[in-house]
Amino acid sequence: MAKLHFYYGVMSSSKSAMLGINAFNFSRTDNKWEAIKPATDNRDSDTDIVSRIGIKTKATALQNLDDYKPKRSTQFILVDEVQFFSSKDIEKLAQIADSTNITIFCYGLKVDSNGNLFPASAKLLAEADELHPMETVCEMPHCSAMASHHIRFDEQGNIIRGGNQVEVGASQYKSVCRKHFHELYDNPSAKLYKRICEINLQKTK
Ligand SMILES: [Zn+2]
Repeated sequence: MAKLHFYYGVMSSSKSAMLGINAFNFSRTDNKWEAIKPATDNRDSDTDIVSRIGIKTKATALQNLDDYKPKRSTQFILVDEVQFFSSKDIEKLAQIADSTNITIFCYGLKVDSNGNLFPASAKLLAEADELHPMETVCEMPHCSAMASHHIRFDEQGNIIRGGNQVEVGASQYKSVCRKHFHELYDNPSAKLYKRICEINLQKTK
């Protein structure tokens, strides 16, 4: 039986970069690994995992894990954007960890832009052997609290509530602390300052 790890954090908390660094270190020590990602995540590449700071990792994109079988030689599985898989897929990963010696590292978001757990992330919080919060600070000016939530907004700074949990690249997000999330999300007239939006839009281009 091997361990199932869940590294979770907000956007821009270096999850994909950490995955890439782990893959690099496994290769250096001649450990056999494979990386997978959900097919819905084609933001930067259909095959590579690309971190915001440019670290690239070769991966296989899968719709689901129903027919997924790791190679016999694999010692480590790295999973990017794990929140876009289903809770059934997480059960499959737990079965692999329980029936092989393959250690599994999952990286993903915990909550969506409505403050709710993604189903896969909820399942991982229940099933993972080890939980690893990845910390980064709130993106609101002068706030030094840890970011734990996402605010989704349009180009005018209007906050988007509800909507599909799985939306890749179609709108803009900011990673904020819990206090700022509720200040903005719970207040119907709240609007992100235009300047903050512009800075954020430039950063994500
Ligand atoms: Zn804050």
